[in-house]
Amino acid sequence: MLDANDLISATPTEIDTELARILKLVDEAFAAIARVQTRRKRRAKLGYADEPGKADPDVVAAKATIARCLKESEPLEAEFTRRGGWTRAYLVNNTNGHVHRTMQCRTCYPTTEFYWITDLSGADEDYIVGEAGEKACTECYPSAPVDVLRRPTRIKTPEQVARLAEKAARATANAVKAITAPDGGPLRTKRDGTIRTEVSARRAYADVVAYARYLRATGSTDRQALIAECEHDAELILAALAAKHAQSVEDVRAELAGSVDRRWKREYGRW
Ligand SMILES: [Zn+2]
Repeated sequence: MLDANDLISATPTEIDTELARILKLVDEAFAAIARVQTRRKRRAKLGYADEPGKADPDVVAAKATIARCLKESEPLEAEFTRRGGWTRAYLVNNTNGHVHRTMQCRTCYPTTEFYWITDLSGADEDYIVGEAGEKACTECYPSAPVDVLRRPTRIKTPEQVARLAEKAARATANAVKAITAPDGGPLRTKRDGTIRTEVSARRAYADVVAYARYLRATGSTDRQALIAECEHDAELILAALAAKHAQSVEDVRAELAGSVDRRWKREYGRW
C-alpha cells in the first residue's frame, strides 16, 4: 500500500504495480458475481426461485470489494494524471501475444486477456520496443525499427516468470540439501565416493565411525589400513559439515555422536 506521501515519490512501476494488484481484486470480485448469476440461472431452471429482493452474501461481499478497490485506486489514477501520464505496456496473455501500448489497441478484442507489464511503466518507448522485440505490436509502435522487430523478445509471460521463480526456489532448496568440501568442490570420500547431500553425508559419517569402532573392537591388526580409511572419510565429512554450518569440527562431532551410537548398536550390537 502506498500512502499519500509515498505517492509523490513513487516510481511509475510502483504505482502501476499497486494499481495492478487492486485491479486484480476487482476482476476477481466481478468473477465472483458472475458465478452467483450462473448459479441462480441454474437454480431457476431447476425450478428453485430465489427469494425476491434477498441479496446473495457473495454478491454483497464482491460489491463491497469493488467499491473499496475503486476508492483505493483513485489517488493512484490521480497521480498518473497529475504527472501527465507515463508509458505503459501490456502483453496479450497467449503464446503469440504481442506487447501493446494500450489495451484499446484496435488489433485486440474486448475478450483479449492482458498481462500488465508494470516493470516497463514509465520506460522510454524505444526501450519498451527493444525489450518486446518480435512481440512489439506494430499498430501501437509504428516507428519500431525492422531490425528490432526481428529480435527475440526479452519479455516474459506470467507463466514464464512463475516457472523461473519455481526453478530458483528448487535451486535454493537443493543448495540447502547439498554438501560440498569446505572449498566448494565435490566432497570425495574413499569409501562412499562423491557425497552430494547433507543427509547422505551424515549417514556416511555414522557408517564409517561405527565401522572403524567395530574393526578396532575385533582387534585385528591387519585392518589398520581400513580403519585409517574410515577415519580419513569421517574427518573429511566433519570438515564439510562444519564449513557448511559455520560450526567447529568438534561441535559437529559431538552432535553426531548419538547417531554413531545408534548405528553401532544396530549394525554391530553383538559386540
Ligand atoms: Zn497494439
